[in-house]
Amino acid sequence: MLATRSARTFAHGQAILARVAEQGIEIVELTGDRLNLGFSDDPRRAYAEAKSTLALVVAPPSKRRLQPIAPSADWRIDLAEGCPAHCSYCYLAGSLKGPPITRVYANLEEILGAVPEYLGQGRITSRSTARRAEGTTFEASCYTDPLALEPLTGSLSAAITWFGRWNADAQLRFTSKFADVEPLLGLQHNGRTRMRASINPRAYARFEGGTAPVRDRLAALRKMALAGYPVGLTVAPIIAAEGWEQAYGELLAEAGEALAEVPALDLTVELITHRYNSGSKAVLDSWYPSSALDMTDANRVTKRTKFGAEKQVYDATTMRALRRFFEKRIAQTLPSARVLYWT
Ligand code: SF4
Repeated sequence: MLATRSARTFAHGQAILARVAEQGIEIVELTGDRLNLGFSDDPRRAYAEAKSTLALVVAPPSKRRLQPIAPSADWRIDLAEGCPAHCSYCYLAGSLKGPPITRVYANLEEILGAVPEYLGQGRITSRSTARRAEGTTFEASCYTDPLALEPLTGSLSAAITWFGRWNADAQLRFTSKFADVEPLLGLQHNGRTRMRASINPRAYARFEGGTAPVRDRLAALRKMALAGYPVGLTVAPIIAAEGWEQAYGELLAEAGEALAEVPALDLTVELITHRYNSGSKAVLDSWYPSSALDMTDANRVTKRTKFGAEKQVYDATTMRALRRFFEKRIAQTLPSARVLYWT
């Protein structure tokens, strides 16, 4: 792990360094705050080097000015940036700039300290009649998978405890393709954190290198629900490859079994179809040149966002078939679930 000079001055930064040292990971203490990342000229090696680089840094003030994050939450809150896994559709390809290293933030108290001024200010879930009961929502999985980094940082536990103590109509949210939830089970969360498991059929496991098996993610979600957390499923990205009906039918059935007989289960579902733009496709093609993930024009149309950006989404016929299927199957296999959105 690389640790910048300023990051080492924060109490949470020190706590991260202590955890990392305990696990026998080498720490390189930088004399300044710049990360001089001299990666290989070979793109494959540079990718591998970046993915295995972890840096302890200070989140700049711009990161502490929260941004809305539709359709998930009122606000985005970043505890880290980057992820060590290797998903060939990773949404970070469209949002991270430069080599995909993982930066974890030492100034967690400053990041959380900025949160109260956003209470009641949300325009996404807070303005939705169906979702207003969630309070002002803060999404922690936009730029990272916070559970993946938890053994090294403890940042997610600290944030859950912070929201648990904050006696306000607010909720922290995170989604994960990882399963090690043991450290979270005994926290005083007070129902103010919703964990969602990000799931896809086993047949697509080859697109999710380095993540936990889906059955372990579902077992972890069950443990969280039994510990009193509100929970959810993020089915993402939904991929309309051959055999998708059977694959997603089995996945939803498996989720139904995993969550059976949980008392007072508070379960939501978020449905996100596969999409990309020319920028993220170019990055993903360079990171995963031999991936079998379909990013051709078949079944695709170009959609323009209200900000003028273009993205490739499934065509209307495919979208309708997918949506009908999911609505029907979720009603059958997860009858208590509330579907938050389809996109
Ligand atoms: Fe990207 Fe999520 Fe996969 Fe990490 S787990 S590589 S953040 S898609």
